[in-house]
Amino acid sequence: MSIKENLLKLKDQIPANVKLIAVSKTNPINKILEIYNAGYKIFGENRVQELIDKQPQLPADIEWHFIGHLQTNKVKYIAPFITMIESIDSLKLLKEVNSEAEKNNRVIDCLLEMYIATEESKFGLDLSEAFAILDSTEFKDMRNIRICGLMGMATYTDYTDIVRKEFKNLKLYFNQIKEKYFTDKSYFKEISMGMSGDYQIAIEEGSTMVRIGTAIFGDR
Ligand SMILES: *Cc1c(COP(=O)(O)O)cnc(C)c1O
Repeated sequence: MSIKENLLKLKDQIPANVKLIAVSKTNPINKILEIYNAGYKIFGENRVQELIDKQPQLPADIEWHFIGHLQTNKVKYIAPFITMIESIDSLKLLKEVNSEAEKNNRVIDCLLEMYIATEESKFGLDLSEAFAILDSTEFKDMRNIRICGLMGMATYTDYTDIVRKEFKNLKLYFNQIKEKYFTDKSYFKEISMGMSGDYQIAIEEGSTMVRIGTAIFGDR
């Protein structure tokens, strides 16, 4: 199937209230344009260098989501144009995003990346670390970021009951954080979970945003 057919098939399977992020990492400009020309404008990248190489070569109305581990010293390169940073995993990083957003006269939408997998290598916060960020006076003074929800990656495994449990956990974290800090904030509404291998389970467990690469672009 062509990239465009993959996309249309996915859009058919994904409920209208779930946003699809086309993860274009490692894929070239011409393939991204194939999707863009099919009328689709939301893309995800996980490396700053790759993103800032591609972004100027592509239409300006693309909404870019940053989904990889982000080093504080690189925030300045993406702050002028990034639509959402899904991978906030420390107060230090959030402070830097706020300060670069201010320099650019913008408010940048962010998600807190939560650690839900059983694998050791993944980045992300546990619930107490997320509470610590949201309780900090630094956070309360930030005017140029908005926390719009949570992101998480499940363990890479064929055992779907493990994956489902991890997604359920992220949903519980979301409910707890919403209740404690954001009850009156309608923008705190996103649960970014689900990739090519597990998006169906993620949607069943309450995902509002799926990040899909290989199921659209083919194997990397
Ligand atoms: C690469 C990546 C994806 C997409 O993975 P696929 O398995 O290709 O769909 C989603 N989220 C993050 C954080 C990624 O790095």
